[in-house]
Amino acid sequence: MVIVKTIEALQEVQKKLSGAIGFVPTMGALHHGHLSLIQQARKENDHLIVSIFVNPTQFLEDEDLDAYPRKDAADIKICELAGVDILFMPTIDVMYEEDELCIGAPAIRGYVLEGEKRPGHFDGMLQIVMKLLNLSSATNAYFGKKDAQQLALITQMVKNYFMDVNIIACDIVRDENGLALSSRNVYLEGEEKQRALSLARSLKRATKLIMAGEKNVELIKKEMLLVLKDTDEVEYVAIVDREFNALERVEIGNTIILVAAWVGKPRLIDNIWI
Ligand code: AMP
Repeated sequence: MVIVKTIEALQEVQKKLSGAIGFVPTMGALHHGHLSLIQQARKENDHLIVSIFVNPTQFLEDEDLDAYPRKDAADIKICELAGVDILFMPTIDVMYEEDELCIGAPAIRGYVLEGEKRPGHFDGMLQIVMKLLNLSSATNAYFGKKDAQQLALITQMVKNYFMDVNIIACDIVRDENGLALSSRNVYLEGEEKQRALSLARSLKRATKLIMAGEKNVELIKKEMLLVLKDTDEVEYVAIVDREFNALERVEIGNTIILVAAWVGKPRLIDNIWI
């Protein structure tokens, strides 16, 4: 594995590649969720590039940019063991200059749910993903369904800008109790770990209702909120189609149920695809 930190070094090693390039962008503090993307990309491509970059432009002013968990040494080991060929770890000044040209999230889908609660987050996310996709020259780029709205917006960006890359959606990885893995789970303390499970439990409750024939979105959301009483604050419960349009009735095969809630220090998100 080679570790590269500059654009020039990345382009230099890339020149020698032929065949399919798999790419997995991350913000580091790697866990089994990231690893599942890396393993799938390893299997499906001739070459594998992973990036680790905590992107400042997708954090809002009052968010945890400075406190975001960083574990470079462990991450490098994980990538090495997982068979990564190129690990790209740029600094902020490598990725950005002053007075940048920016692309923005779409006015409707980019400003509901996560986009409404974190205005500007998706603009910064799309800006960095566009840069990284261009730099990686990826054939296939891998993203987790855990960040479902992010995945939908990246898919839309690739379509709208005619970018030549396949976006591959990867399943959510959970711990043995059902908690969706996240770098921010390290903030959970003591009993909060137990209360954090109510997000996954609320999604299970919704699935059970749907399996029993319930399609009414309002009723399902009400039932989910009962389960979510264990959290400190629910930001949203939403039932949308795969393009993030609101639904009145569940459409099997075209529905995502999402939840965002605070438990102790972290803000947690989870979802299930129906
Ligand atoms: P992050 O480092 O949080 O930016 O995540 C990098 C990639 O890993 C994104 O595509 C995430 O959606 C994905 N990811 C994060 N957590 C999980 C998980 N628990 N299961 C599957 N993918 C995940």
